Amino acid sequence: MLYYPWMSIIKKGLCLMDIISIIENKKRGLALTKEQIAFFVRGAADHSIPDYQLAALLMAIRLKGMDARETADLTMAMAASGDMLSPDVGGVPVDKHSTGGVGDTTTLVLAPLVAACGGKVLKMSGRGLGHTGGTLDKLESIPGMRVSLPEEDFLRIVRTVGCAVVSQSGQLAPADKTLYALRDVTATVDSIPLIVSSILSKKFAGGAKAIVLDVKTGSGALMPTLEASIELAQAMVDIGDHAGRRITAVVSGMEEPLGSHVGNALEVKEAIDILSGRAKGPLRDVSLFLGAQMLIASGLAEDVSGAAAMLEDALDSGRGLGKLKEMIAAQGGDPRVCDDATLLPQAPLQRPVLAREGGFLAHVDGTALGLAAQRMGAGRIAKEDVIDPAVGFVMKKRIGDAIRPGDEICTLHAKDEASAKEAEERILSALTLSPDPQPRATLLYALVTPGKVTRL
Ligand code: URA
Ligand code: CA
Repeated sequence: MLYYPWMSIIKKGLCLMDIISIIENKKRGLALTKEQIAFFVRGAADHSIPDYQLAALLMAIRLKGMDARETADLTMAMAASGDMLSPDVGGVPVDKHSTGGVGDTTTLVLAPLVAACGGKVLKMSGRGLGHTGGTLDKLESIPGMRVSLPEEDFLRIVRTVGCAVVSQSGQLAPADKTLYALRDVTATVDSIPLIVSSILSKKFAGGAKAIVLDVKTGSGALMPTLEASIELAQAMVDIGDHAGRRITAVVSGMEEPLGSHVGNALEVKEAIDILSGRAKGPLRDVSLFLGAQMLIASGLAEDVSGAAAMLEDALDSGRGLGKLKEMIAAQGGDPRVCDDATLLPQAPLQRPVLAREGGFLAHVDGTALGLAAQRMGAGRIAKEDVIDPAVGFVMKKRIGDAIRPGDEICTLHAKDEASAKEAEERILSALTLSPDPQPRATLLYALVTPGKVTRL
């Protein structure tokens, strides 16, 4: 065969960019180049690299790590793997993202409150599979409410109302779709560079210019310890800051559900109760803290005390609830649910669960509570399952509370007695009582801003 000099150049070029040598490099702990990262991200997005090679690479990244430059390159390549929105919403588009938890309804409380203070909240949510209820499922319990809207519609709603909560289109960061599905089944979720790039690529592609992250810590959280959760928060803040976003992370506890209501329509009702001033407690407190960070990141407030005062005023004046009504109406839903919660789906059977023994509530297995709600019909087991918006339960006790036998532990909202009975057993076994007094669960652990960690 004739030899032409360009042959070796092409061969060398191909060699530099073949997936096996990329895996090989990472296996040896070498940093990948920007081009190597762009190559495998493209291959993940268009499925030109087979899953088994991507899976091997993910495990090599999980074991050998990535430095800050590689993590930034990975995040930007994943963000650019699909559509990149640069929305004109008449202000700084701000998004808030929680790394997960049961009974976490902060979005429904803070999006309207921040909008009432002049913020432009563009919240794109994924649909949850498993035991945690997705924000979209909660919203869809409102009669008529639509969460899949054309881009020009939700951008108009953010411009005019100040907030919209919609489903993220499949065209945003498609590389993450492939990689996340593989991570889930290859024990490679708990990797800081992979989590950072997964979460932030979607936020960058969605056009968020200000980002507030609620990084959960505790059992069932992405990272196993408080120190690892803070490290994850710092990594995300660093990458966001380098990409020119205003970004803050709050590290918060998930020892028990933040709100007392677990279930789709029930969680909407709880958000309405808070916005109408009827309910107080940890969900309200954490929502106000996160909301304050959103106002600061949006450049609408200077500090936490100023931002908190703005949010309290929006709450007390009813303007926050007014914004929720406007948003519901703009997304096709019935805003009268905000004045009359009985217009939300109602479960046929409502009854209390009573304590069989006494003590102090010491520990709550949040995952088990989430599973109890899922089994009642509030969550999906398979992707195509239809959820029952009405079912769930309202907890009456929190960690640290004293409980006497016969006290009401929670109120069940069930479809029938068999389902209620199963939920009762699951809920009671998710709670651990102690004979000794117990401290309350910690809600807020740390605030992470570029280059700084403040313990709370
Ligand atoms: N949520 C995401 O979207 N990605 C992760 O990697 C972890 C949580
Ligand atoms: Ca929670």
